[in-house]
Amino acid sequence: MELVNESYALSNGVDPLELCQKYDCPLYVYDTAIMKRQYEKLTNAFKVKHLKINYACKALTNINVLRYFKQLGAGLDTVSVQEVQVGLKAGFAPEDIIYTPNCVSLEEIEQALSFGVKINIDNLSILEQFGHAHPDVPICIRVNPHIMAGGSSKISVGHIDSKFGISVHQLPHVVRLVEALGLNVEGLHMHTGSDIYDAGVFLQGAEILFNAAEHFKNLEYIDFGSGFKVPYKQNDIQTDIEDLGEKLSKRFNDFCESYGRDITLMFEPGKFLVSEAGYFLVNVNVVKQTTSMVIAGVDSGLNHLIRPMFYNSYHQIINVSNPVAKPRIYTVVGYICETDTFGANRQISEIREGDVLAFYNAGAYCFSMASNYNSRYRPAEVLVHEGKDYLIRERETIQDILRGQVEVNIFDTAVVK
Ligand SMILES: *Cc1c(COP(=O)(O)O)cnc(C)c1O
Repeated sequence: MELVNESYALSNGVDPLELCQKYDCPLYVYDTAIMKRQYEKLTNAFKVKHLKINYACKALTNINVLRYFKQLGAGLDTVSVQEVQVGLKAGFAPEDIIYTPNCVSLEEIEQALSFGVKINIDNLSILEQFGHAHPDVPICIRVNPHIMAGGSSKISVGHIDSKFGISVHQLPHVVRLVEALGLNVEGLHMHTGSDIYDAGVFLQGAEILFNAAEHFKNLEYIDFGSGFKVPYKQNDIQTDIEDLGEKLSKRFNDFCESYGRDITLMFEPGKFLVSEAGYFLVNVNVVKQTTSMVIAGVDSGLNHLIRPMFYNSYHQIINVSNPVAKPRIYTVVGYICETDTFGANRQISEIREGDVLAFYNAGAYCFSMASNYNSRYRPAEVLVHEGKDYLIRERETIQDILRGQVEVNIFDTAVVK
């Protein structure tokens, strides 16, 4: 059985219920065919001499997913030195990894430098300190273009008061430091937020970077970040990649001509590459009537998928056990001792206790934001590739919950008072 319509079907008709039987629920399932479709959508849309797509691995950090993107030809975008280490373990060459941290210590940046990855500098203080210590290391500068865009204020990171990047208004200060310290700026970068569907926002940001580029003669690349919007339901609005590709490619090629060199156009998408590739499968524990609604309580919660509670994000929910029954209205909730509502007032094919529900768009920022809250195990992960399924993360056990806890044995727990 396939998950509703074609665009959401697991590749080669892999049956989600069979996966649940084999691996148990709750279960994250990722389909490489959709990752590939998305990757190729990008690489086909941009007609420039040098294009590099760096997968923003914080979206989904399983090492097998990283390896798959490496096989497709992607580089890697990392935001912590630990992600750098995971990327190296996955087999990425250091020069194919860009490290874009925010508000981290100079020590951590130097640790990333010791791994040989590309360093993206996000504030003036670090620019000055890093530049003093390592004047010969080529760097990338993260520019904040002050564009207000994105799905919500929590995921818009390019606005005037954002903590990310160096304000474009501080460019004269950057130039002064670069000249005084004799630094080599090899890249310019922006990342204005997530869920941006308007190509105009990217183009507006691009013009700001093209202007900034005039101050730096040794650029090898310009990185336009990410934030592409993906559909969360049928006929949902999404970034028109073809339209953006056509417009930005033309503008970029013109820029290269005036700059005098063909430099690399970079993007670093996370959500766009993996959001739709993931499904989250859960079991229904209880169907319960309150005075005003019917609740379906599942064996998961905000510990496994926090986006609906954290960002108000929408994940389509379907009943894969009973797909063609009469639809009824449900509120789907988790089992955590908090209010963890996945979706309110959803029209879902009649739910019985024991049914398996599937959440869509569960590839990006779902498992990677999962926790052990309530001492619950994080889910297992399965990769579906060319019609075969592979376990890529084991279900946790009580040992995982206790690991790292140090028992000091100073309390007499045998005493009963
Ligand atoms: C998170 C992040 C991305 C990816 O954003 P998406 O919305 O998932 O595409 C890209 N670049 C940087 C610097 C990020 O922090």
